[in-house]
This record gives sequence, structure tokens and C-alpha cells, in this order.
Amino acid sequence: MKYQDEYRNRELVQGLAAHLENLVAGYAGTMTFMEVCGTHTMSIYQYGLRGLLPAQVRLISGPGCPVCVTPNSYLDKAIACCRIPGVVVATFGDMLRVPGTSSSLMEERAKGADVRIVYSPLDAVKLAATNPQLKVVFLGVGFETTAPTIAGSILAARQQGLGNFFVLAAHKTMPVPMAALASDPELAISGFICPAHVSTIIGADAYQPLARDYQRPCVITGFEPADVLQGVAMLAAQVVAGESRVEIQYSRAVKPQGNPKARAILDEVFAPCDAEWRGLGMIPGSGLAIREEFASFDAERMLPLTPELSREPTGCRCGDVLKGKITPFDCPLFEQTCTPEAPVGACMVSTEGTCAAAYKYGR
Ligand code: SF4
Repeated sequence: MKYQDEYRNRELVQGLAAHLENLVAGYAGTMTFMEVCGTHTMSIYQYGLRGLLPAQVRLISGPGCPVCVTPNSYLDKAIACCRIPGVVVATFGDMLRVPGTSSSLMEERAKGADVRIVYSPLDAVKLAATNPQLKVVFLGVGFETTAPTIAGSILAARQQGLGNFFVLAAHKTMPVPMAALASDPELAISGFICPAHVSTIIGADAYQPLARDYQRPCVITGFEPADVLQGVAMLAAQVVAGESRVEIQYSRAVKPQGNPKARAILDEVFAPCDAEWRGLGMIPGSGLAIREEFASFDAERMLPLTPELSREPTGCRCGDVLKGKITPFDCPLFEQTCTPEAPVGACMVSTEGTCAAAYKYGR
């Protein structure tokens, strides 16, 4: 398949691994690169890419899985939503099994709540249009990749004059937490494998402050094995040369300016806000809130939500996994009491979660 097989070619991948080895041959220290995208995390585990790296290069996983970084306080609000009579919660499938403080959407559905999986936010708009007696709440979770489609659904609901479509918004934006991680001396991040999908929207220029103000090389990288190895080699070359620039390895999809139309629709509906991240805590300016003009579509403003007092699962180290401070194998619950069938934390549920990737491919 074009753009897959050619980037999985064994000789190409081995050649890139040899190139990387040559690049760092005289380098005495360790380079630590963080990938900030759940799909990269999956790819690195799936293709065993860590096994191809020279001793000087280390990869750690960051907060790149949108479901994983969504804190329990949000899940508890979503659960409170579905307990309101006449409310339908519509969501992507990943959210169903993520444990909240004392329940999950799946458990609530088993008890009779109306929780439905949709494949697009526009499906939720259609659900609201065809069921005027119900209130439909779409769970707005994700980075800049999904946020424009959710903004589009709010615009579509307004155009249709719907008064029964709402979004429970918890969108997060990517460059800001990377700056927080770059400032953490314990992590000693040498550079970032920047997210590919997010970068198609925000563009490579969004990472310039990280390279300029934090002196961290940034390379926007595709998902296939050859993409990732080439991206790592580009980062390593910058570190060896003592440089820090933003580069695009994934040039077949990412442009410096991103996607102006998608960014315009984001700006129309959402405004930057402070956001709580699982593991990283409250980060100023790292989220997207529904603007005042669209308040009538904001579930938090329009519905009487009474969530329980939230707490994170006992013993779960998702927070440290999301900061790259430990690997899933360092969590005592991994494989013992926490498995994809019985997940303790969000990182074991999502298809992009680091613990799920380690369980599926890393053992
Ligand atoms: Fe949390 Fe399970 Fe991952 Fe441990 S293995 S950090 S309990 S999700």
C-alpha cells in the first residue's frame, strides 16, 4: 500500500538505523527524545524501534493520548451528564471504558443510562435533530486534530437552530505542555518528536518557541517505522551539532502554517483556557473553552451537573507514565491487576495509551 509498505521496507529501516548509529558514534552523553503522540507511541512499540537505537539515544513517551490526559474530574462530569433523565451522552468509543472515580460510562450504560458511540460529532448533531425530546451531549475530548470537527458540529447545530445539542468540552492544545515538560530538569528532554496529526492543523511554526526559547530541537515525524527513525536521526543530528530548529520530516502532510481553514473554525468557536491534564496538573493556556457566543451549546453552562468528588485510581501511575518519568513496566499494577480487559487507568484503555501499547507489543 502506497505510503505504508514503502515506509516499512526492512532495508530502508535498517539503513536509517545504521545512519543514526554513525551520526552519534562520537557522542559521549545520552540524548532523550520524547514522542508526544499516542500513534507514535504505538508505532514505536509495534515495530520494536527502541531495539534499533544506539546506546546514546533514548525514547520516552509523553502526554500524546487525548483520552489518557483527560482527568477523572472530566469523566465524573460525563457520568453526571448521563445520569440526568432525558440526556443522551454521545462519544467516541475509547471513552466508554475509561474508569472515573467510582464508575465508567460503560457501567452507567449497563445500569440503563443512554450512552451511545458515534463516529463523528456530526452524528451527534443528527441524533439531536431527529430526537428533539432528548438532550444530546457530545464528549469533546481531543487535541487540535479533533477540535475543528467539534467546532464544526457546534456551527452546524446553530445553523439548524438546535436547542438540544451540547458539547462537554475538554480540548487540549499541544505546544504548551511541551514547554512545561522541557522545563522539567528531571526529564532532561533533548528534543521532541512532534505530533503529526496535530501539526497538520497547527503547522510547524507553532513549535518555534520551543526551539528558540527552550533550545529543544523539534521534528514533526510521520508514523511509519522509517518516518520515526528518520525523525530521530534528524533530532540526533541537531543535538550533535548543538542546534535547535523546527524541522518537518512528515512533509507529505505538514506545512509550516498548518491548515488555516481548520484554525479559523477553531478560533471562531473556542477560546484558549487553562486546562487540567492527568499527571501534569493545571497548565495555563493549554485548553480550549467554548466561547461566550456559543454558550447555549456548552453542557457545563446549560446542564445541572453534580459530579462526585474526583480522585485518581489508587496505585495507578498514569501521571508518571504521561510525563515520561516511568515506563508502564515500572508500574506495579501493570499486567497484575491492570490489563486491557480490566484497566485500572486510562493509559491501559485507549488504543493510543502507552500502557496499552506496552501490553500489546512490548512484553
Ligand atoms: Fe495506570 Fe495500569 Fe498504566 Fe499502571 S499499568 S500506570 S495502573 S494504566
